Amino acid sequence: MPETIQVLLDETRSFPPSAEFVEQANLSDPGIYDHANGDPVAFWEGWAGALDWVERWHTALEWNPPNAKWFLGGKLNACHNCVDRHLGGPRSAKRAIVWEGEPGDTREITYHELRDEVCRVANSLKELGVGKGDRVCLYMPMVPELAITMLACARIGAPHSVVFGGFSAESLWERINDLQAKLLVTADGGWRRGHIVPLKHIADQALAMGCPSIEKVLVMNRAGVPGTLTNGVPTPDYATGVWNEQIDVRWSDLVPRQPKECPCEPMDSEDLLFVLYTSGSTGKPKGIVHTTGGYLTQVLATTKWVFDLKEQDVFWCTADIGWVTGHSYVVYGPMANASTVVMYEGTPDTPDKDRFWRVIERHKVSVLYTAPTAIRTFMKWGAEYPDRCDLSSLRLLGTVGEPINPEAWIWYHETIGKRQCPVVDTWWQTETGAILITPMPGIVATKPGSATRPFPGIGAAIMDDGGHDVSADHIGRVRAGLRPAPVGGFLVLTRPWPAMTRGIYGDPQRFFDTYWARFPGRYFTGDGAKLDEDGYFWLLGRVDDVMLVAGHNISTMEVESALVDHPAVAEAAVIGRAHEIKGQAIAAFVIIRSSHVASEALTEELKSHVAAKIGPIARPDDVIVAAELPKTRSGKIMRRLLRDVAEGRALGDTTTLADPAVVAALKDKYEDKES
Ligand code: ATP
Ligand code: MG
Repeated sequence: MPETIQVLLDETRSFPPSAEFVEQANLSDPGIYDHANGDPVAFWEGWAGALDWVERWHTALEWNPPNAKWFLGGKLNACHNCVDRHLGGPRSAKRAIVWEGEPGDTREITYHELRDEVCRVANSLKELGVGKGDRVCLYMPMVPELAITMLACARIGAPHSVVFGGFSAESLWERINDLQAKLLVTADGGWRRGHIVPLKHIADQALAMGCPSIEKVLVMNRAGVPGTLTNGVPTPDYATGVWNEQIDVRWSDLVPRQPKECPCEPMDSEDLLFVLYTSGSTGKPKGIVHTTGGYLTQVLATTKWVFDLKEQDVFWCTADIGWVTGHSYVVYGPMANASTVVMYEGTPDTPDKDRFWRVIERHKVSVLYTAPTAIRTFMKWGAEYPDRCDLSSLRLLGTVGEPINPEAWIWYHETIGKRQCPVVDTWWQTETGAILITPMPGIVATKPGSATRPFPGIGAAIMDDGGHDVSADHIGRVRAGLRPAPVGGFLVLTRPWPAMTRGIYGDPQRFFDTYWARFPGRYFTGDGAKLDEDGYFWLLGRVDDVMLVAGHNISTMEVESALVDHPAVAEAAVIGRAHEIKGQAIAAFVIIRSSHVASEALTEELKSHVAAKIGPIARPDDVIVAAELPKTRSGKIMRRLLRDVAEGRALGDTTTLADPAVVAALKDKYEDKES
């Protein structure tokens, strides 16, 4: 029987935290792991106790797999914990949000101002008939009002569901109906790459497809009303769509006239806080349910410890709020910690490819949290852009979203962090709600490409095909100092954690089948992972994407990392395509850096490079030079579509595909190659 996932890549570089960092770190005692894992429930209760509760819980955890309930009997309000409880002292005047619009307009909002604005919006929602338990759908650009509206929903106990502002009318329509949302909040438009995305117009199309649950549409002015912009950019009217006096309500008519007092609704710990759809990398997106007490507890804890957050930090998580990363690390986690968060509306190449670095320089960002896809893009553009800016305010860097290839990690560490900033590679999912596998920057020596260890209190393990836990024995040997050979397999979570999803909205069967059927009592992540000699976790990509080549199970991550290791390659995606003899053959789609020229000789060289780096078994049969790779709108590579292309099938669910033209171009290219 082949090994569940073969381990090929051998990355040996290691970066222990510097003495200066350890000195000032929020957490530097490695004993925290044994302490937390000795009694995880008590550990999490300690963190829950750091929140304000209207009524304390009577039972910390009720666990009937797959159903977990945390802090039962407890009552609290998420908005109170993220806003009101910070007021009354010096934090009232602290900046909560520092925002930059794409055209260059900026705003700063203090915690005190945030409270007033959240109350006005909460009162507006009430005037529009929204009450506790009513679902509100948010389809907005990255503007402060998006965070404010989420907090306003939380304040009155109305669960929110944010739909990323790049989604189509059909995706919006589907989500509104899945949730039976009562109110839609949108904007006339938002700025993206120098253009206005006409959100209201797209929302009109969604409503025209039939959204009977929607009673009102609240529309804020972002792009189309003169005076909104500060840089004199013309403000076209088309962005407002068609005004329907029956249901459309202008933000400017409703919100400013509301009183700035609105009580926080005491919510049960297990009351719904939000529903959010997954990225759709592996199939049709799932509506993931998150509740209040456990979620808030864990985002509070992880923000504080993973990012070593300090009172004076300026925290920038570059994710759009439309993804879970934005929920947990733009809004709820940092704000529960009374942090100053940066929000930026547009793309990193507008007006020039140095925009991110300008934002960091201008606002003195100290903690930056972004995605490998962005880092690989910055590498492709070159160091000249970050080198133009003063990045000396940075003290910690994070990544999330995909496995980070060691070369990208090193580039981030050197070119952005100037070797001074720890890099935390954080693994988690929409379903997990918060970061689960990550270095503790003051304790754990990092290795490029490894997410290192489960956060204190989190139980993670690796299973083989036969349902055996291959990690327990391995960890035992690591602890005994034996440095056992790496093992690979399926990543599972062995015990409940506070921020875990409570289900797929309206579909308990799919919830059970997707996460709980394969390994009874354990949560199946759908990701492959390996454990190395030191007991570090390395994420290997989706198990659906694992390639079976001549009896060897090979992960996409390791082959892609070997390709990106070559100086000509900026980005790579590999898949297994059907092959008569080997079962599957490896097809690699690569983006070549502008400093190199694609040629037959280069593709041959790349094949040999992979074979030399990780072994002849992983030598790709095909190397296809591509201009772009198909990605979800959150920037993740959609390998399943590449498989569809390579095997000549009709494409699967493409609703979350960022740019359909990319797949069409690859199809042509692949067919040319075949003929
Ligand atoms: P869908 O579930 O619809 O296929 P998705 O899994 O891409 O979409 P998300 O919840 O946004 O949706 O992404 C979570 C996934 O992202 C993880 O399961 C993992 O595959 C990947 N991921 C996130 N962070 C990391 C990381 N640090 N290292 C490796 N992979 C990561
Ligand atoms: Mg997923």
